[in-house]
Amino acid sequence: MPRWQPVIGLEIHVQLSTESKIFSGASTAFGAEPNSQACAVDLGLPGVLPVLNERAVALAIRFGLAIGASIAERSVFARKNYFYPDLPKGYQISQYAEPIVNHGRLCLTLPSGEEKEIRILRAHLEEDAGKSVHDLFPGQSGIDLNRAGTPLLEVVTEPDLSSAAEAVQYMRTLHTLVRFIGICDGNMQEGSFRCDANVSVKPADSPTLGTRAEIKNLNSFRFVERAINHEIERQIELLESGGKVVQETRLYDPDRDETRSMRSKEDAHDYRYFPDPDLLPIVISADEIAAARAALPELPQQREARYLREFGLNREEAEALSSELPVAEYFEALAAQCGDARQAANWVSGEVFAALNRDALPFSEIRVSSGRLAGLLTRIQDQTVSNSMAKQVFEAMWQGPEDADAIIEARGLRQVTDSGEIEALVDAVISENPDQVAQFRAGKDKVFGFFVGQVMKRSKGKANPQTVNDLVVSKLKT
Ligand code: ADP
Ligand code: MG
Repeated sequence: MPRWQPVIGLEIHVQLSTESKIFSGASTAFGAEPNSQACAVDLGLPGVLPVLNERAVALAIRFGLAIGASIAERSVFARKNYFYPDLPKGYQISQYAEPIVNHGRLCLTLPSGEEKEIRILRAHLEEDAGKSVHDLFPGQSGIDLNRAGTPLLEVVTEPDLSSAAEAVQYMRTLHTLVRFIGICDGNMQEGSFRCDANVSVKPADSPTLGTRAEIKNLNSFRFVERAINHEIERQIELLESGGKVVQETRLYDPDRDETRSMRSKEDAHDYRYFPDPDLLPIVISADEIAAARAALPELPQQREARYLREFGLNREEAEALSSELPVAEYFEALAAQCGDARQAANWVSGEVFAALNRDALPFSEIRVSSGRLAGLLTRIQDQTVSNSMAKQVFEAMWQGPEDADAIIEARGLRQVTDSGEIEALVDAVISENPDQVAQFRAGKDKVFGFFVGQVMKRSKGKANPQTVNDLVVSKLKT
């Protein structure tokens, strides 16, 4: 038996974050009443002309630069002709022979630690189709054309992926990137980020690729992984029992966890592509590309590497703090303001994330600015408050507008660092508990915690814990 090697190429449809459609002024907002956001252009009525949305082009350029691709100085819209009820014009406006983005790459760090580069063949602009609705009217199908004309960037890899897990990792990395650079909201439930997976298998030593099947419209990471694994197994079984894989489009059914044939796959020539006579070629100047390049933020992978190198964070922390631009900016501002990146990382990935989670808030609705939080961290650094008191102060800051200092003052949360004052408490606790002192001296180390606890309690939690520890040690040992 040959050892089978899976080969996978992904086509990902990234919905570009524009207010209006790619060729009309209709809104792209999600969730509107069916067919309330499809204008004459989206409906393909006779006599209307498409007008290109400038922002869609800008977002495509931004993406191309982020994957190190070349941006075509001239690219062309083409008509892809096919019949389907959700496509009233009878063709989809897409790009074919001359796409706007060519030859980029995305780097993955595999679980082994090895780096793997996935080549991105192209990314082209196109319009989305409408949607057939089969579950609303018994025995009938409805058509909702709100999606028709929504701007998409289709990102096509070379067949460089060699397992379902690798495909998912690529997809996650791309998902992080498009959100980070602000070209897509990444909302997979709403269809803003969808994947078609092309899957084939070949004998491990064969230089030629096997025949592929394409699995359409996978809208979750979990489904992508499952669908690809199923398809690989199906093809191997088929080949091992003497059968042949046919080139076809398959649909993944998450309820039954299987793929099934949808239609035999068209070849490109079946679509009768030709340049759309209603649209001029897109011409992009070198100046525009240079300006877009200058406006690109430092990307998540570079940031992550820098956080490891400059701040000494571990990989998990660095990834959590670098994968969304507002989080990264907040963290870096906080680190600069409090002067301690380590402390800033702990607080953002600890208290800040926990509070956002608890209140189910997006990061954009964070209740404590980096400046206010830095004020609190400075009070930990100068020992005004202990870490655990700081958590109470943070909670109060989260609930209201006051600064750390005002809250510390108003609630009397100032930590006692005066060792004379603490010493008096330690002496009292020791003289009142001779039994525990005897136990400790007899080698029962655990009672140490009892003394510290008692002193903290008497100080109402305000004694500097380090000073208490030091004093209890020195008093008990003498
Ligand atoms: P189409 O336009 O019909 O979808 P393309 O030739 O543009 O087909 O390829 C689409 C995707 O299929 C690309 O991501 C490519 O990497 C992938 N692909 C092509 N051949 C194979 C193969 N033999 N096995 C797996 N993936 C493949
Ligand atoms: Mg395709």
